[in-house]
Amino acid sequence: MDGLLNEDDPILPAMDDSLAGEQGLAANVSSSIMPIATNKDGGLKKISKAVTTGDFEDLMTFTEEKLKTIRDEIMAGHVEVNPYRKMDSSGENACMYCAYRGICRFDTRLPGNAYRMIEKLSDDDVLRKVREENESSDDDAPRKVREEIE
Ligand code: SF4
Repeated sequence: MDGLLNEDDPILPAMDDSLAGEQGLAANVSSSIMPIATNKDGGLKKISKAVTTGDFEDLMTFTEEKLKTIRDEIMAGHVEVNPYRKMDSSGENACMYCAYRGICRFDTRLPGNAYRMIEKLSDDDVLRKVREENESSDDDAPRKVREEIE
């Protein structure tokens, strides 16, 4: 099982009983079904894919706002060809998985066609940026986009 877990969730040990200690999580165990491992104190190791309840809420708020922004931009007619490409050595990009690749005319050899480069961030940097964006989010953004449509 992949994904992000809530480290404050009291049912984590119930999801994988190999994690269950006498009180809370057992020490020095690694789950074979979740991306969770504990240290000698029963705390989560840094490699665990888990965040606090507060971080989860920040991520949910960010995602909801991002979805609203994307929806509003599409409704305003902003549908530019703007595929991403990761800046790391994988070179992964949106076109690699796209069902429209055969008919799409995006070609980086043509003027004006370029990938939107995405830098690799640490988990901590992602959360910091999410919090910054949540704090600075413009509550009037959806209204401004609607006005743009009208
Ligand atoms: S192939 Fe075309 S439509 Fe598909 S992701 Fe790339 S640019 Fe977008």
